[in-house]
Amino acid sequence: MALPKPDWLRKRLPLNAATMKVEAGLMERKLHTICQEGCCPNQGECFAKGIATFLILGDICTRNCRFCAVHHGKPLAPDPDESGRLALEVRELGLRFAVVTSVTRDDLPDGGAGHFSSVIRAIRAECPGVGVEVLIPDFQGSASALQTVIDAAPEVLNHNVETVPRLYPHVRPQASYSRSLELLKMAREMDPSLLTKSGLMVGLGESATEVEDVMADLRKAGCDMLTIGQYLCPSDRHFPVAAYIHPEIFASYRQTALSMGFRSVAASPFVRSSYMAEKGFQAAAQCR
Ligand code: SF4
Repeated sequence: MALPKPDWLRKRLPLNAATMKVEAGLMERKLHTICQEGCCPNQGECFAKGIATFLILGDICTRNCRFCAVHHGKPLAPDPDESGRLALEVRELGLRFAVVTSVTRDDLPDGGAGHFSSVIRAIRAECPGVGVEVLIPDFQGSASALQTVIDAAPEVLNHNVETVPRLYPHVRPQASYSRSLELLKMAREMDPSLLTKSGLMVGLGESATEVEDVMADLRKAGCDMLTIGQYLCPSDRHFPVAAYIHPEIFASYRQTALSMGFRSVAASPFVRSSYMAEKGFQAAAQCR
């Protein structure tokens, strides 16, 4: 039976002109967002501020992680015009910092890395001065795919470990904890000036010690920035919530992470990988 939600997880959804502008622009330019496809609980808040996280390479994922609301199946071929439309939308929204993620495309030879590169370059061309964060899949550990993305020079390279290694077989069976860590480590080595970022969800049945071990592993991989948020189960077909983690525990995770040397840490029940990403970037950039 589903656990009752605690009071701290109730959120009002604002609706204003900015929300409608975001929704209309996405529809007009045929763009997807992880905000909508992932059923993010912050959608109302972020759209009302004119912020969205773009989901490229379609809305169908080749993997079937048990925590994720995005549809899985056989995706369509990449749309070569998507990067141009997305860059126009970034300009239209007046974003100073754009966050771009994708479904996992194990069907593509480069995992979609070339498409990420095109999107970053299109934003650079259309919106000079706008920072870009990419939240990438693991590219099945491909160094050449990762290099393709890094060569396009995003400000932040984000790759989520999502959960503690013990839970991988239950939560993300087609992924590998060590491969994800290795990807972050490779990114750090390929461009030592690049800010790297990762995140995990809690409330899946992990212990506090396991969370701290993940933080330590990420620091060993050179990871600069961290996000930790409460896992919320998208439907009764998904992995169930094991616990609602109290905000005080999030605060203690944040302190522990900062003491380990992360340059920016966002940890609270509603934190998601891209939540207030610009603020996280500014905090991390100032620590240099
Ligand atoms: S937190 Fe990220 S994914 Fe969620 S609504 Fe905000 S921008 Fe979108």
